[in-house]
Amino acid sequence: MFGKILIANRGEIALRVLRACREMGIKTVAVHSLADTDAKYVKLADESVCIGPAPSRESYLNIPAIISAAEVTDSEAIHPGYGFLSENASFADRVEKSGFVFIGPRAESILLMGDKVSAKQAMIAAGVPCVPGSEGELPDDPREIVRIARQIGYPVIIKAAGGGGGRGMRVVHTEAALLNAVTMTKTEAGAAFGNPAVYMEKFLENPRHIEIQILADEHRNAVWLGERDCSMQRRHQKVIEEAPAPHIPRRLIERIGERCAEACRKIAYRGAGTFEFLYENGEFYFIEMNTRVQVEHPVTEMITGIDIVQEQIRIAYGEKLRFKQKNIEQRGHAIECRINAEDPFKFTPSPGPIKSWHAPGGPGIRVDSHVYSGYNVPPHYDSMIAKVISYGETRQQAIARMRQALSELVVDGIKTNTALHRELMEDARFVEGGTSIHYLEHKLEQRSK
Ligand code: ADP
Repeated sequence: MFGKILIANRGEIALRVLRACREMGIKTVAVHSLADTDAKYVKLADESVCIGPAPSRESYLNIPAIISAAEVTDSEAIHPGYGFLSENASFADRVEKSGFVFIGPRAESILLMGDKVSAKQAMIAAGVPCVPGSEGELPDDPREIVRIARQIGYPVIIKAAGGGGGRGMRVVHTEAALLNAVTMTKTEAGAAFGNPAVYMEKFLENPRHIEIQILADEHRNAVWLGERDCSMQRRHQKVIEEAPAPHIPRRLIERIGERCAEACRKIAYRGAGTFEFLYENGEFYFIEMNTRVQVEHPVTEMITGIDIVQEQIRIAYGEKLRFKQKNIEQRGHAIECRINAEDPFKFTPSPGPIKSWHAPGGPGIRVDSHVYSGYNVPPHYDSMIAKVISYGETRQQAIARMRQALSELVVDGIKTNTALHRELMEDARFVEGGTSIHYLEHKLEQRSK
């Protein structure tokens, strides 16, 4: 096994990777910006290297600084976590060319999946169902664009091929608004992602967001670890995730899970990955693949007993998957609430010093967080400060435990969205299960009236 791994990330995921390494007897190197010098995982790591000032561009996105940190510490492999450089193909390539192992897929797979147009084409070829839409990138000819939209049928959604993080999308309800929307999305996409290519899809009115977690090794073995329901979203950002997805027939999930594993074998995918789908009227429609570990991976870990981060490390080392599909069992139910440093009503970020922090505990409760009493939440990064995960034999028990956990959670000094989570755990529609991706936005609109 690797002797030493460099963790090219920060926050809770840096601590999560560190814990996985420690358990496996692997030494860790934390890299950090000047804003994160006092972070818990930096102190816990065997070694640490400051890679630059607070802004991400100069530190967590600074490829030469990270590679030289790996060189000076004699690290063997680099774990990118999620966000930052985790889906940057040229980073993966630079890491490998510099003689280190990138804990993730090959650069070609990241490139293929990073462009949503090529990802969709690869999935169609692999037999994975996709949202009906344009065949690839939209052409320049306005008449062609109008024709494609008519063929798909309104409403349609214009999406940037290079988009991510819920940005670079525009819904169009009428032909009159179409061409202007295409031009605007192209301009924005060019500026934000350096790639003006856009494509068109049928806009699904009331879908759920269901995703499949997969693991694949270098030897063309691939398994799927069940599904997650991430429909509780605000501004296309996930707020609550759970596994399994309520009220979806098992045979439908099994069919789509198998397709995903098969697609991995076909494209010779390596590592952990997630196939994201919209689910409506009993059908799954692929929207994108994430080629990294996801924020919500713990809910899958809780119901399968598989440590996804450790499996990523073993796969990167070249090992064969230790289990076959028939060995993977899902048991019970898990729910994750993302705790963000933000106003629970206005959602404005609320960085600053945490005066006191009490994490919940008890049976079936897991808290993934890097914060502590006295920790200062820096204003430069993502606002997520903790993930509270509950496990129960049934969904009902997982909800009951989450309610209790949220009532124990204390974060003083800054604002958090804990109040919103408490409200959602009592929400009749959530408790029933199976709400669509628009549910939370609608609920929030009602709340502000
Ligand atoms: P990103 O990479 O920015 O997360 P995705 O393609 O995963 O973009 O889409 C993010 C979210 O946008 C989805 O979870 C869903 O809420 C919405 N969305 C994307 N495509 C469609 C579609 N065809 N119909 C309806 N909603 C969509």
